[in-house]
Amino acid sequence: MECIFCKIINKEVESKIVYEDEKCVAFEDINPQAPCHILVVPKRHIPALRDAEEDDKELLGHILKVASKIALERGLEKGYRIVLNDGGEAGQAVFHMHFHLLGGRIMKWPPG
Ligand code: AMP
Ligand code: ZN
Repeated sequence: MECIFCKIINKEVESKIVYEDEKCVAFEDINPQAPCHILVVPKRHIPALRDAEEDDKELLGHILKVASKIALERGLEKGYRIVLNDGGEAGQAVFHMHFHLLGGRIMKWPPG
């Protein structure tokens, strides 16, 4: 499987993993866009949100809850942002679905 995030999940590629459970893994983004920039990904290879199935609804909720817990652990009580890019035009570059957790600076709106 030529997927960089699957390789990270399988520990074939190095990364700074900050959280792991049976369903998901969270690791530091290699090119951080904020003081805190963590990616939370399902262990199962789902290319994009559009590929998630009805049975994945619990998994999606679980990942969001994990992201919010990490945010508060990191002291981001004042605010944080969770981003999911679905498709090339949205900026998705890695086709293993992932949520970005960003924080530690004031965020702009609308996003670029
Ligand atoms: P997206 O553009 O939404 O697909 O986001 C992909 C993200 O993955 C980008 O923020 C990249 O910096 C990040 N990324 C790519 N390769 C790695 C890697 N080996 N380790 C950690 N983050 C990565
Ligand atoms: Zn993958």
